[in-house]
Amino acid sequence: MLDNLTQRLARVVKTMRGEARLTEANTAEMLREVRLALLEADVALPVVRDFIAKVKAKALGEDVIGSLSPGQALVGVVQRELTAVIGGEEAVSGGADASKYSELNLNSQPPAIILLAGLQGAGKTTTAGKLAKWLIANKKKKVLTVSCDVYRPAAIAQLKTVAGQVGADFFPSEAGQKPVDIAHAAVDWARKHYHDVLIVDTAGRLGIDEAMMQEISALHATLKPIETLFVVDAMLGQDAVNTAKAFNEALPLTGVILTKLDGDARGGAALSVRHVTGRPIKFVGVGEKLDGLEPFYPERMAQRILGMGDILALVEEAQRGVDMDEAKKLASKIKKTGGFDLEDFKVQIGQMKKMGGMGSLVDKLPAQFSQAAAGADMNQADKQVTRMEGIINSMTPAERAKPELIKASRKRRIAAGAGVPVQEVNRLLNQFDQMQGMMKKLKGGGMQKMMRAMGG
Ligand code: GDP
Repeated sequence: MLDNLTQRLARVVKTMRGEARLTEANTAEMLREVRLALLEADVALPVVRDFIAKVKAKALGEDVIGSLSPGQALVGVVQRELTAVIGGEEAVSGGADASKYSELNLNSQPPAIILLAGLQGAGKTTTAGKLAKWLIANKKKKVLTVSCDVYRPAAIAQLKTVAGQVGADFFPSEAGQKPVDIAHAAVDWARKHYHDVLIVDTAGRLGIDEAMMQEISALHATLKPIETLFVVDAMLGQDAVNTAKAFNEALPLTGVILTKLDGDARGGAALSVRHVTGRPIKFVGVGEKLDGLEPFYPERMAQRILGMGDILALVEEAQRGVDMDEAKKLASKIKKTGGFDLEDFKVQIGQMKKMGGMGSLVDKLPAQFSQAAAGADMNQADKQVTRMEGIINSMTPAERAKPELIKASRKRRIAAGAGVPVQEVNRLLNQFDQMQGMMKKLKGGGMQKMMRAMGG
């Protein structure tokens, strides 16, 4: 999601960075582009207006004028203001720390009660399960779940199923009971059984109606939850923001969970919720599966949108893609023998391919790099990798273990076997030489340090 916005803004950022001098004209042009990009992404109009006004005021102020590279400084202003729009002033760290996010507040007498509200189909029940899983895995909490949806027995059964899947306890309820009575009983049960957290799922309607609002208000009054979270489908775009606003007026929300951000939503909701409701987005749903929930990081989101790339996502991907067993085997072999042969080289090339090929890695790089890389044809680069594998495949095991054996006649045979010119075999052998040099340097423990850093 937000791909278009990211692309458009990255282009503006790139142009700005190159500007040695900011004039009224080029600043206005840049702001116009940003405005259009935000509107196209379905960001609420008042949010766009406010954002542009703030950036403009800062751009014309000392922040930018006094700086040596005004283009760069302006990018900084845009990023800061975007973070503030997405997450409020408190989300702006002013440094490289993009980890700030609105934590769940669990500081209450146990059980800490989390009340989930929202329209039908928003993803409440799924989110109840995801949240329980997250609390169990990351906060080591003992979690009880309960459904107050007495209108849909299927909803109660659904919660029971997801709770079972994530290892949370489930407090049974049934149609015909009063929601407030269920809530009371669940709290009692949680106290008696030492649950740290009680997640309360509620009935949703197709639209906002009086009866639903009264019911959830009564539940809120009974439970006095430490967190009242509004669960809303990001795909509703502007409507998501409007319903959040209406709920917030009826119920003192403490935060919002935006679901289905993995869909092709234009994403404007994510950028507007905070500004329109004054409530932080605490989590986002990024998939139907029960691990598809992530804390929401405003600053990371702003950086990503501005095309600075989500380096953290890249590192996570690298960790997933690399076969740690292979990497460890290689490291211990190098440590023992100091040797790194063409067979090892081939394993490395294979790992690169596993990580989704060059193209997918480049997508995650900061815009300034990926744009530089856009000049190079990534398909071509991937093809190159396949050809290198082909060349190594044409070598005998003895040649792979001892590349110095490969003289002119062997080179010709290998080139013919792989269907490439001899020069390519030479190029590969040169690259291998360089890699081998690097591996020797890493032998003194460097390799292991590198692997630890990667989570190995
Ligand atoms: P409820 O009526 O609010 O309880 O909504 P449900 O939890 O039953 O969810 C409605 C539908 O949305 C289900 O098909 C879920 O699988 C789906 N869903 C929920 N959260 C997400 C999400 O983050 N991503 C995607 N792709 N689907 C989701």
